[in-house]
Amino acid sequence: MNRYIYFDHAATTPVKPEVLEEMMPYLKGKYGNASSIYALGRESKKAIENARDRVALALGAKAEEIFFTGSGTEADNWAIKGVAYANRKKGKHIITSKIEHHAVLNACKFLEKEGFEVTYLPVDNDGLLDAEKVREAIRPDTILVSIMYANNEIETIQPIAEIGKIAKEKGILFHTDAVQAVGNIKIDVNNINVDLLSLSAHKFYGPKGVGAIYIRRGTKIASFIHGGAQERGRRASTENVAGIVGVGKAIEIATLNMDSYNKKLLELRERTINEVLSKIPHVRLNGHREKRLPGNANFSFEFIEGESLLLLLDMKGIAASSGSACTSGSLDPSHVLMAIGLPHEIAHGSLRLTFGEDNTHEDIDYLMEVLPGIVERLREMSPLYESTLSEYNSECVKINLK
Ligand SMILES: *Cc1c(COP(=O)(O)O)cnc(C)c1O
Repeated sequence: MNRYIYFDHAATTPVKPEVLEEMMPYLKGKYGNASSIYALGRESKKAIENARDRVALALGAKAEEIFFTGSGTEADNWAIKGVAYANRKKGKHIITSKIEHHAVLNACKFLEKEGFEVTYLPVDNDGLLDAEKVREAIRPDTILVSIMYANNEIETIQPIAEIGKIAKEKGILFHTDAVQAVGNIKIDVNNINVDLLSLSAHKFYGPKGVGAIYIRRGTKIASFIHGGAQERGRRASTENVAGIVGVGKAIEIATLNMDSYNKKLLELRERTINEVLSKIPHVRLNGHREKRLPGNANFSFEFIEGESLLLLLDMKGIAASSGSACTSGSLDPSHVLMAIGLPHEIAHGSLRLTFGEDNTHEDIDYLMEVLPGIVERLREMSPLYESTLSEYNSECVKINLK
């Protein structure tokens, strides 16, 4: 194997050299605790506030509306549990969707055990949520709507501005898990009427283990981590200064490069989708054809088991994923693919390719050199393949497989 190609940027991205360079001093000489009053501490404090300004600027928010967290998962948990606990006297009903990341779904499941009620809205076959469904689900005791900006498996982009408008009209707080979207598409919190938004640095070439949450001024939310007075008393614990500096630098670069980055990803994506659909039979593109993040292609191959596909690709030096990184290792098909109506056996044969900065057209050439052969080989090993093909008219047609 003389090459290694990474097609899994939705799982995580490498830290950019410029980002690492800005972080390094805070891991070395500038190690002061940001709460200390001497110069070394003040330097850390200054670096954190500079990062906060950069995140705020990228989102159209005010600096005091940005709070740093330990991850995207933490930001989601804070948004959902924090709003639930602070508003429980007003009501106990939360609206979300069936295709949220587990950070949102499992936070909601936890709250159900605490006596909250959660409505999990369905999506259509493209993974798109109808904003009117949110309106219909609203009850007098609804306190929060939480809908992801873009899905992390099929990468369909939701009508967030429309949902935000409805939530605002009804006076209900609106959170969006934008972890997959920030750094990939332009987001201005003022155009989409969100009250809370989660992001995570490692999805846009920043470090792992650090994220942020936008909390609109005046939003009623409980603190999540109790302790010292960091983050204005709302998220205690000594700050991860280097990590926070990394978020600031990474989001700044992402914002500056957004147009050219998008253009590049879109080209790689369109080429891949067109070639896979035309060169491999019995394959389906998952997610909306246009309303999807620029760098994502998600396919289901009939008569194939996704894990085997990933292993064979790995042997050829290609890193990809089936479903999301968090669910691989479990035998259940992805909850997202089930929610868009795929039968079990087709959901199992899925492949997610997510492109990034380091990918080139040569990478796609190589993918198209090896993928059709691998798919063919696996199908030859499948007992279903031969027998089904003869009377072929099945599920594929119904769910509009090519
Ligand atoms: C990656 C991801 C998360 C979790 O973020 P971490 O920083 O890895 O905890 C949450 N939601 C979505 C949509 C994601 O893609």
